[in-house]
Amino acid sequence: MPDSELLIPNYFKLNTRLNYFLSMLRIGLTGGIGSGKTMVAKLFGILGIPVYYADDKAKHLMNTNKELKSAIIQHFGNDAYKKGELDRKYLASIVFNDKEKLELLNSLIHPVTIRDAEEWMNRQTTPYVIKEAALLFESGAAEHLDFVIGVYAPQHIRIKRVMDRDHLPEEEIMKRISRQINEEMKMKLCNFVIVNNDQQLVLPQVIELDKKFREMSTQ
Ligand code: ATP
Repeated sequence: MPDSELLIPNYFKLNTRLNYFLSMLRIGLTGGIGSGKTMVAKLFGILGIPVYYADDKAKHLMNTNKELKSAIIQHFGNDAYKKGELDRKYLASIVFNDKEKLELLNSLIHPVTIRDAEEWMNRQTTPYVIKEAALLFESGAAEHLDFVIGVYAPQHIRIKRVMDRDHLPEEEIMKRISRQINEEMKMKLCNFVIVNNDQQLVLPQVIELDKKFREMSTQ
């Protein structure tokens, strides 16, 4: 997909939260593995915007939310927790090569995280907030948001970044990429796209969107 096409904001894909023009905007931020969404989220954070890091929060909720804990134990057994703490290795070994089990686990986690994010958003008082998550569309979370920003980087760059960051072999990263929805397709679902391809500067793109959202919000 040409970069110029990615940069066209799609105002026609607005969600229908009726009061979006009256209050604080809820903005999603997503992208494939290694696209740079966490880095972009941190830039919004520097501009004073609160960020909900959904993937980190989900990990926390798996250890602290009673309802979620008992649902995980019910479906994955007592071994899913060791001394009350999630046994991530055990759970990963179950879901790693079993798509249905992975989907089941996600179906338990996503509603709890979406609810937690809603409560968090309701407590914020800024013109807009950001919810950063790898699976915004797949989890249904995008339906609760006013706009979604996609962070785009070509696959070879994403692979190199994750290899450098996590010291993982290329095959392992490719496996993870193959489990996510196609990046170009994901970007088409987004209202705005930030290109993070090591050629275009990211900060001006973030500043431009920040200005736009502040103008749109009446909070
Ligand atoms: P994941 O889904 O795996 O968590 P992510 O989309 O959140 O990935 P980041 O963690 O933000 O991606 O970025 C991946 C790695 O690439 C990080 O080490 C980050 O510092 C680096 N990185 C991202 N964008 C850039 C950039 N424009 N210039 C240099 N390094 C970058």
